[in-house]
Amino acid sequence: MLAESRVVAGEAYVFPVDSSRGGIQLALENYLFSRNRQQNGRSFWRCIEYHRSRCSARCTTVDTTVVATSGEHNHEPHKDKISFLKTRVFMESLSHSRASPSW
Ligand SMILES: [Zn+2]
Repeated sequence: MLAESRVVAGEAYVFPVDSSRGGIQLALENYLFSRNRQQNGRSFWRCIEYHRSRCSARCTTVDTTVVATSGEHNHEPHKDKISFLKTRVFMESLSHSRASPSW
């Protein structure tokens, strides 16, 4: 079962990507980040192209707010992946709400 995505700041969203392992990704300005580690209430994210493209882009969130970004992406935006995730979360929310409609 997938958790709902949530807006963390402006155009940033957290998506569940691997519900069996509790994986989540952060979508920020058309790029996807995976969570690297958590420390003192902060989450440290790095671009999902970190290994494949050696992308150096990173960001930090505290609670639901993006507080820092660094590095530049060296590849195309993840627009297709993000729209896929948004669609999947939307479809999942529809199937969940079937039992108890919220509208
Ligand atoms: Zn990148």
